[in-house]
Formats: sequence, structure tokens, C-alpha cells
Amino acid sequence: MIAELRIDLGAIARNVDALSELVAPARVVPVVKSNAYGHGLVEVARAIAGRVSRLAVYELDEALALREAGITTPIHVLGPIRAASLDDAHTAGVELTLWDGGSYLDDVASAAHHGGSPFHVHAKIDTGVARLGMRVADAPARLRRYAEHPSLELAGVFSHLAAAEEMDSTFTREQLDAFATATRNVSPDVERHIAATAAAMLWPETRLDSIRAGIGIYGLWPSPETELTMRDRGFALQPALEWRTKLVLVHDVPAHTPVGYGCAYHTKRPSRIGVLPIGYAEGLPRNAGDRGHVLVAGQRCRIVGRVCMNMSFVDCTEAPDALPGSPVILIGRDAYTAIGADELAAATGTIAYEIVTRLPAHVPRNYLVAAP
Ligand SMILES: *Cc1c(COP(=O)(O)O)cnc(C)c1O
Repeated sequence: MIAELRIDLGAIARNVDALSELVAPARVVPVVKSNAYGHGLVEVARAIAGRVSRLAVYELDEALALREAGITTPIHVLGPIRAASLDDAHTAGVELTLWDGGSYLDDVASAAHHGGSPFHVHAKIDTGVARLGMRVADAPARLRRYAEHPSLELAGVFSHLAAAEEMDSTFTREQLDAFATATRNVSPDVERHIAATAAAMLWPETRLDSIRAGIGIYGLWPSPETELTMRDRGFALQPALEWRTKLVLVHDVPAHTPVGYGCAYHTKRPSRIGVLPIGYAEGLPRNAGDRGHVLVAGQRCRIVGRVCMNMSFVDCTEAPDALPGSPVILIGRDAYTAIGADELAAATGTIAYEIVTRLPAHVPRNYLVAAP
């Protein structure tokens, strides 16, 4: 075992339930893109598919992998699907994201025609991210065209928020107003969705008919402010992922010993330097040295020196019991303390989203199976 990822599928199911309760009567659509934020696409989807009315992924290949695994729950592909793959998408019964009013719309219609049934689509409106979607000004006419199109079934209209973590910003309300304007003539039967995890927590008025929840279902917070606000209100999430390894070697070295590439770190005192078989290729940010911590034998130990491609160093001087083979926790908890993905993220100048989605698919994942 070089490294192990332990994923508690029961925790993910409980987070889905907790979010569902929070936002009811709006529904939770779990987002399992990017290998379920590093937690494992198929396993996560299997654990929660029975609890929800739809799943969301980013690209068609993810939806096809879920169909291949026997998952029959409706799946919304949030990102673009190339025209050449529309027949496959229709055959797999995926719901696609549509904003086009030109030739791509014709491609979608012809795939529906080949397949013999309308294409289920969610029309996307860009209300202020300048990413995917039609302009608000184009929306009324285009949405009417979609609704009346014999080859389309308009399943939803949606948008995405840019600044939902910021509670003192007016931008979320502006986007919500723009969305209401763009969709005002759309039948009330068509599902409306705009919130991801942060908005669903902080801005109840954005919950509409459903929320697309990614980070929250994995038990992680979209931002420290979201965590503080929700904890104050007694709302808890359970992190589902633990990242563990074992010390390969421990060096007892004198003060002033250089450690790792570039001699970027020198011991300041007689030290015990532990070697971890995990580097940036395994998902540990290269700049974690001198910033991040791990738990070794019940002690919080600092990562030191430059993180290598496949290895890294920790100062185990405060953990005299640490030996080759001693367990190391990079993300997770022992009896005394915890290190969250958010802590590693803050230490290395990124967000928990990036830490978990960059955990490579080749690292083995061990699943604790959900209670029935
Ligand atoms: C990834 C994504 C989400 C989920 O966002 P979280 O902040 O992880 O809840 C929702 N909607 C869209 C369009 C996304 O791309």
C-alpha cells in the first residue's frame, strides 16, 4: 500500500439526506463530476442514486460510465456535448445542456429524430458568470422556441451563480432577478434551478425547484464563511474521505541537515525526518512543504522541504514513536485531532474542491458501504 483513500459512502448518503431536509421542498441533484470530486464516480453514484431524482455530471463520458455501471437514474450533463456524440447521448437517455439557437440545435433535433423520441434538455442562461449559456436578452424567444420544438422536451431551465459564498454581495440577487426575467414566460411545470451548495445554504431564495449540490454531499464546505454560518445554525456535514499512508523511512539527523530538492529546508535542531511515499503526482500540492501538516502516531507533524513527484518529508521530531510503517493521515482524523481537505487547501493556497478533485484516479479507494 503506497497510499489509501477511504471513502465512507454512508457519510455521502447522510449528507444528501441532510441537504435534502435543509432545502425541502426543493430537491437535491447530486453533482458527481470529476470522479465524484475524487471520491469515485460509479461507487458514489450507486450509493445515492436511489435517493434522488437526478444526478449531474460534467461530460458525456461520465454519464456513459454510469449507464455502463447499470445506473438508470436520469443524468444531466452540465457541460457541452460535441455534435458527433449526440446520438450516443440520446441512446443513453441523458439530459443535455442547451443554449444554442443555431446549427447545434439542428444537430440535437436530428439526434432526437434518429432516436425516435424528443431530447430532454435543460436550457442554460448566463446570468453573470460569462461561462456557458444564452444571454438573458435572447432567452425569452429562444426558450419559447425550445418549448414549442417537437424534437425537444424542455425538462429544465437553469443558471449558475458567481459569488454565492459572499453574503454581503448583491450579485446573487441580481443574477436571481435576471434569471426570473429570462424565464418569466416558461411554463411553471419546467424545473428551475440555479443554486449549488453555497447558495442553497446561504441564500434560501435561490433554492427554487432543485439545487445542484456538489461539494456539500462529500461533507466539505464551499468556503470557511459557509461553514461558520451553517455551524452556527446547527447544520453539520460529515467528511467522507480519508487519505492515509505509512512512513517509508525515518532519518535521525543532526541540526542543519539539508532535506530534499534544492536543499530548500535545513533542520533547525536534531530531528527525525519521515519520508512519505506521496508526492505531487499523488495529489499533494508541491508547495505543501513548510505549510501543511499530517498526523503521525497521534502527533501533528509539519511537511518540510519541497514535495517531490512521488515522495515528501515530514518533521516527526515530536512523534518519537514514529517508525517506518507508522500510519500517517494526510486528510482525516485520529482519536485526538483532524486534518480536513480545507486545512490542506488553506495551507497551500487553494480550495478543498481542488485538493479532492486532483486525487488521482489510480490511487486505490476503499469504500465503507452505506447502511441500507
Ligand atoms: C460543479 C457545479 C455545481 C456544484 O457546485 P458545488 O459548489 O460543488 O455544490 C453546480 N452547478 C454547476 C453548473 C456546476 O458546474
